[in-house]
Amino acid sequence: MEACEKYKEVATNNSLPICEGYVGVQKVKVVRDTGCSSAAVRTSLVSDDQMTGKPIQCRAAVAWEAGKPLSIETIEVAPPKRREVRIKLVATGVCHSDLHMKNGIKSGITCADANFPCILGHEGAGVVESVGEEVTNVKPGDHVFPLFLPTCGECTTCLRHDNNICTGIEDTQARGLMPDGTSRFTCKGKVIHHFSGTSTFSEYTVLPDIAVVK
Ligand SMILES: [Zn+2]
Ligand SMILES: [Zn+2]
Repeated sequence: MEACEKYKEVATNNSLPICEGYVGVQKVKVVRDTGCSSAAVRTSLVSDDQMTGKPIQCRAAVAWEAGKPLSIETIEVAPPKRREVRIKLVATGVCHSDLHMKNGIKSGITCADANFPCILGHEGAGVVESVGEEVTNVKPGDHVFPLFLPTCGECTTCLRHDNNICTGIEDTQARGLMPDGTSRFTCKGKVIHHFSGTSTFSEYTVLPDIAVVK
């Protein structure tokens, strides 16, 4: 448990202050009964319901520009919009494609190239934190994989029998944006792009619903 100054008083309980703050990325409530130096009295995890529809602050490895080391930053992850899913990553892999992007080496595949600044990472696993309107394939609490090759089921390539390289969102994915043409990530007031439609080098990420599978 961290020092009390990090917590903000939000209520009282039998005249004891209740404070809200973060331990790592997990939001907690703390009832203090012996003053500010001992916050570790009673904690209760704040349910995901209280984060639903709100931005989440968490850590991510941000690639500010090609050829520079990744930088661990506190970022803001906006809530999922229509047909989008916000997940809490529990694991991520580091693939050579991520290393190539960090080093500024193009893949030659437009939708797999990075648009800086961005959050790299395209291999991961996580738990659905919240979903936007009209999402029917997953619900909060589901364990899911992010897909850098989604399946929209509607584009010409999805409808072919000899091809599964979905092109449904490739234009926006290539620009490091969600299908509506905007990003869900900001850091220090700057828009941070998605990468490969996944951005798994973050504690939370937002994906189109066609890019998660459980
Ligand atoms: Zn890979
Ligand atoms: Zn498709």
